[in-house]
Amino acid sequence: MAFKSTRDLTKNVGVEDLIMLSEVTESSLHENLKNRYKEGLIYTSIGPVLISMNPYKQLGIYGNDQINLYKGKHEFEIPPHIYSIADKAYRALRSEGENQCIIISGESGAGKTEASKYIMQYIASITGSSAEVERVKKTILESNPLLEAFGNAKTLRNNNSSRFGKYMEIQFNLAGDPEGGKITNYLLEKSRVINQTQGERNFHIFYQLLKGSTEEEKKTYNLLSPDQYLYLTRTGGNGCFNADGIDDQIGFKQTKNAMKVVGIDEPLQKELFATLSAILLLGNLSFNKSTSGNGSVISDKKLANTIASLMGVDSNVLESALVSRQISTGQGARISTYSVPQSVEQAMYARDAFAKATYSKLFDFIVRKINQSIEVKTIGKVIGVLDIYGFEIFENNSFEQFCINYVNETLQQIFIDLTLKTEQEEYVQEGITWIPVQYINNKPCVDLIEKKPIGILSLLDEECLFPEGNDQTMIDKLNKHFSNHTHYSKVERQKNSQFIINHYAGKVFYNIDGFLDKNRDTLFNDLVSLATSSSCSLLVEIFKYVAPIEVDIEQEKKNRDKFSKNGFANNAAKTFIPTDKKRPITAGFQFKNQVASLLKSLYSCSPHYVRCIKPNSNMRALEWDQSKCAEQVTYLGLFENLLVRRAGYCYRQTFTKFMRRYYMIGKSTWPKWSGDAENGTKLLMSELTQNINIKEEIQYGKTKIFIRNPQPLFFLEDKRNQR
Ligand code: ADP
Ligand code: MG
Repeated sequence: MAFKSTRDLTKNVGVEDLIMLSEVTESSLHENLKNRYKEGLIYTSIGPVLISMNPYKQLGIYGNDQINLYKGKHEFEIPPHIYSIADKAYRALRSEGENQCIIISGESGAGKTEASKYIMQYIASITGSSAEVERVKKTILESNPLLEAFGNAKTLRNNNSSRFGKYMEIQFNLAGDPEGGKITNYLLEKSRVINQTQGERNFHIFYQLLKGSTEEEKKTYNLLSPDQYLYLTRTGGNGCFNADGIDDQIGFKQTKNAMKVVGIDEPLQKELFATLSAILLLGNLSFNKSTSGNGSVISDKKLANTIASLMGVDSNVLESALVSRQISTGQGARISTYSVPQSVEQAMYARDAFAKATYSKLFDFIVRKINQSIEVKTIGKVIGVLDIYGFEIFENNSFEQFCINYVNETLQQIFIDLTLKTEQEEYVQEGITWIPVQYINNKPCVDLIEKKPIGILSLLDEECLFPEGNDQTMIDKLNKHFSNHTHYSKVERQKNSQFIINHYAGKVFYNIDGFLDKNRDTLFNDLVSLATSSSCSLLVEIFKYVAPIEVDIEQEKKNRDKFSKNGFANNAAKTFIPTDKKRPITAGFQFKNQVASLLKSLYSCSPHYVRCIKPNSNMRALEWDQSKCAEQVTYLGLFENLLVRRAGYCYRQTFTKFMRRYYMIGKSTWPKWSGDAENGTKLLMSELTQNINIKEEIQYGKTKIFIRNPQPLFFLEDKRNQR
């Protein structure tokens, strides 16, 4: 029997589903995960949630034989595996005709991206093979190395760390084959372009380009060796150019190949590589104080010429865009523009901003290209896979952690909403009586961050509009507005630069330094017009592109008026706020919109969860760091998840599957039960519970048996094992 052979592949260590733990404590949860991990059993479930622990070694559990074992085995009870989640999602899509999503979370290096790749690989291999379906599948699979080249980097936590969040939707036709898809990317860590922590690298693509290019390409793109670029060596002078397990030369070939697959042809590739080279060279551009006035000039004109020619722009215009700023005053016909010289420091800031903006726009462009090549015009059912950074608490938490934790807070909210909702619906459907479960409601925390008109994000946007707004005025404002909020605490210090948010995963100290700057995300118009004047069509295209944003401008305006009326902002703010659509789009505002649209998609799906755990920080196989693991269990909300699951009926199973598993332990159902499964289940249970008082623990629904506590199950399992 197929299911038997699946099971035989795995040893039985601890419980496969934490619901079956005899003792529901955090330590028994840890113990169970640890024991399984040590035996190489990296998957464990909590009901429908899959826990995956990074083995840091090849386990040989992802081959075609494994795919075949999991393929369509939803009828049987099979050991937890990433393939079983993929299979469940796919079967549900087909049988229920509903959109599905698989939400993968966990900290950096926990195995999220690998999990998402296994899911894609599984779906690709169990679906059809017409030429067009094959093309779509190939594009979806090839989009990975391409996105990884531009979006991944070596960090201290993971040699191939994704520095962006990704939601990939695959759309299926009526035959159940992939007919297209769409990728949405979130928050690329663009600061990495100009600087990296000691021991980390810039994005892979730079090293691929520098190491993988032919001599001819090196000449064409004016490439230097990695140690000659400031953007690759800024960290104490000894840049890190290699990453274990990553071959940049082979990577470059794969990247070029993937580009071809998604329709980035050779002329376009050339423009892309020239632009990448220009970005790197920008970092080497230095400025001197100008002899007249307090402005600055580019020190190395020859370098400026090289960059300008790579970018297809005029070298003088490049210089003036970096060392001066056009400012407009007045209104209507009386508008006048003048040029403000920039100090050396300001020019360097503009240079870095330009490099970061160009790179992140390139990344968005690549995502758009992939999307164009798998775009479908018809509407169909989708499976979405979300691979997004988990909760982060660092020594120093800045705007980036704030955004990441905000999205995790909202994901946790969906998790609670949807898992409880599906539980409740199941009880209703099956006609089971039950008492609703109390759970932590983290909506107040989400509101603290995103509520209009006064949540942290909108206050931040307000502050960014004040010319005199700075991090200090911002934190004063936060303290003033939220000191009574249950999820907010101020830090009592002389010079305070921190505030605390009480997230579901714990208290996080955020450092306000840089919040305003990162949220403003300013790129001066001079640089935008420079890029759009380029003879390089790629640069023009990426700088002209404006992402469609779903914003209700009217509602925004109303909120703003209310905001001012309530006296939260002073009058100066009111006159300063542009009421037209030209209001600068801040990073926070954009992210909030992305999160809102992600939530909209996720709420329209049946969710599946993969919670990834990184068992140690040394990337070492089989090593278990207890305190690190306990921390992640908390951030992932696993124990809470288990409690919620156990508060209802810990076990529910269709009569058919129940009989398949236990028929051999009943007097009248063994050796063969030919009646219907429901009667069989009832008969079997009444025989078994004759002398034990657990009848009230069991309820029979329309298609399923429900058991409240795991004790009767242990009893059943024991009996089964004795056979
Ligand atoms: P994340 O996306 O969560 O940051 P990754 O998916 O990139 O983490 O995984 C980090 C590294 O861990 C991978 O490059 C791989 O070496 C290893 N790894 C992750 N999952 C597995 C797995 N299931 N089997 C073997 N190695 C894995
Ligand atoms: Mg990743």
